[in-house]
Amino acid sequence: MYSQASQSVRSSTGTDDPDVFIAGGGPAGLACAIAAAQRGLTVEVADGMVPPIDKACGEGLMPDTLVALTRLGLDLRPTESAIFRGIRFLTTDRSGRHLSTEATFPQGEGRGIRRILLHQLLLDRATALGVRLSWQTVVQGIESGQGSARSVVRTNRHTVRPRFIIGADGHQSLVRAWAGLERSTIRARRIGLRQHFSIDPTSVQRDFVEVHWSDYGQAYVTPVSPTEICIAFVADHKFPSIEEALSHFPVLQQSLQAAVPSGSPRGSITLSRKLHRVTDGNIALIGDASGSVDAVTGEGLGLCFRQALALGDALEAGDLALYQRDHRALQRLPHFMARTLLLLDHSPRLRNRTLRAFQRRPPLFQQHLGVHVGDAPVRIFGSKGLLATLTFVLAG
Ligand SMILES: Cc1cc2nc3c(=O)[nH]c(=O)nc-3n(C[C@H](O)[C@H](O)[C@H](O)COP(=O)(O)OP(=O)(O)OC[C@H]3O[C@@H](n4cnc5c(N)ncnc54)[C@H](O)[C@@H]3O)c2cc1C
Repeated sequence: MYSQASQSVRSSTGTDDPDVFIAGGGPAGLACAIAAAQRGLTVEVADGMVPPIDKACGEGLMPDTLVALTRLGLDLRPTESAIFRGIRFLTTDRSGRHLSTEATFPQGEGRGIRRILLHQLLLDRATALGVRLSWQTVVQGIESGQGSARSVVRTNRHTVRPRFIIGADGHQSLVRAWAGLERSTIRARRIGLRQHFSIDPTSVQRDFVEVHWSDYGQAYVTPVSPTEICIAFVADHKFPSIEEALSHFPVLQQSLQAAVPSGSPRGSITLSRKLHRVTDGNIALIGDASGSVDAVTGEGLGLCFRQALALGDALEAGDLALYQRDHRALQRLPHFMARTLLLLDHSPRLRNRTLRAFQRRPPLFQQHLGVHVGDAPVRIFGSKGLLATLTFVLAG
């Protein structure tokens, strides 16, 4: 159960004001709360919603995401999630030929987990660390303090004077606007739609995340339990319904004939957005509030958790400039991968050639996946490697 106005936390200054106040209790806010509390800071998280909070998501956690989660003290049990060993790309080319190619992760495995379950696990961990959780609490404004006085945060329930204020309030962050951190570059804005399906576990072994490509966008299928899959459709335009979305992916549609939709569909936008700055004075942004990568990368949550670890260190050191530096470095690879994948989205010719090349030479896909999950540096492509890949793809 959740608490509305909750237990009192003593800050390092001996008042009831927390060291760290976090606006937004989604995955980024809770991960940041955990990282700060692990370092001995007192923390309050405020969110306008009631947990566990659901959201449109592909619900896939890549191996590097699980490493970050472990550092936050969370180890997912097999009963709470489903294991996947790699990624499979599928498409149908112009001549109607089906292409399918797969690669396993160089190390470790990925996990699919229902979004509300992941939220509950993060919540339990934060609670165990003594984080004050204030639900149905909407952050309404920040007033900067005069001279050495602390800034004041106003919510619909109370007023706090924390040492640090963290904006974890998602894509449409108000904290970002109040802090004057809106300057950003948006490379892609797409729309996602998610639906769960109950499946017969004996019908097909699902230990890969399948990414189905079409001229309309992608549908990616993540196993989230032995009896359930999550499908996220991502495209430039809104799909009016799941049936309409599926009609653009005939191979997937065919494979779902015995599957039954479970729960209701949920939509959300997904952006590739880079902010110029994510800190100002004693305010820092995290998660989607601090910029984001397109959903097809499957790296949004991993980025939140890695940012939380970096922000925890900066908060402990009392120096948000460290976080600004780390944030920039952390987003580099996911944005590079997002650009690459969106290139395949925009060009059917390049996409078909790439998948054909991956199909003919599986180590090529393996190498790309290794880079994607941070297991191999981008420079393994080198100029020669990249040239070789391009030549191979273009010759395909
Ligand atoms: C279709 C789709 C598929 C995706 N698939 C994947 C995937 O497979 N793997 C992956 O890793 N990532 C995926 N992502 C990305 C991932 O879901 C996001 O990166 C992640 O949800 C960001 O978390 P967050 O905590 O920053 O934001 P959110 O989850 O949006 O949380 C923000 C919170 O702030 C609260 N809030 C907002 N304003 C206020 C206020 N004024 N006062 C108080 N509270 C407030 C909201 O209630 C909300 O709970 C996907 C995204 C989409 C759209």
